[in-house]
Amino acid sequence: MHISIVTLFPDMFTGVFDVSIVGRAQKKNAVTIHCINLRDFSDDAYKSVDDHPYGGGTGMILRVDVMDRALTYAKHSIPDAVPHTVLLDPPGKTYRQHDARRLSAVGHLILVCGHYEGFDERIRSLVDEELSIGDYVLTGGELPAMVVVDSIVRLLPSVLSKEDATTLESFGEGGLEYPQYTRPITYKQQTVPDVLLSGNHANIAAWRKRQRYLRTKSRRPDLLTEQTDLVSSDP
Ligand code: SAM
Repeated sequence: MHISIVTLFPDMFTGVFDVSIVGRAQKKNAVTIHCINLRDFSDDAYKSVDDHPYGGGTGMILRVDVMDRALTYAKHSIPDAVPHTVLLDPPGKTYRQHDARRLSAVGHLILVCGHYEGFDERIRSLVDEELSIGDYVLTGGELPAMVVVDSIVRLLPSVLSKEDATTLESFGEGGLEYPQYTRPITYKQQTVPDVLLSGNHANIAAWRKRQRYLRTKSRRPDLLTEQTDLVSSDP
């Protein structure tokens, strides 16, 4: 998989993508990540990429002509892969785990980071979809791009050692993950449930399924309305 990130702040990604699972995935060639500096596509000596909004108002707006040049370059930068372009923006559709799974199958993902007051409206016609990482406003699209990249890369084949690690975790099959324990068996009067120490794999699987259901029902009942194998756990 190839990921291109159109940004005014490519330096923000240095470090974040060099370590942990995303860093390892790049070393294994499971993914290549390339930052494209929007300023390189400015057409003036000041390298300007934005301007005041027509009709007045505060803040600066990213220009459509500059973004068009950057995206044309980005879309042709990986000749063999079909590009899919995502604008990161608060009014976009809320990003969820099933979007991470869907986007992990894309050959060339292009993420577009905004800054300042946002985008010229015509930039929306240059992209395939618009995603928001939640109902709050950040300074720029760089942190959302990092969130999207991290959540996608860990789903790529061969990146995590066991496939179970991503299918059985929260949102993997619709519900939340069951409670987990490790040593010590008792800590400050809190003891690991007996079933997990029993060695009976059928009972452990049944307990975990039930716990996923109870946790999902109490914390995220909205997830139970989706396709999930947990509904049958309701007594
Ligand atoms: N004026 C915009 C609005 O009210 O919707 C907010 C612009 S925000 C200060 C600047 C940029 O940060 C956005 O264009 C977008 O790229 C990014 N951004 C901020 N919050 C985001 C979120 N929740 N999800 C995705 N991108 C976000």
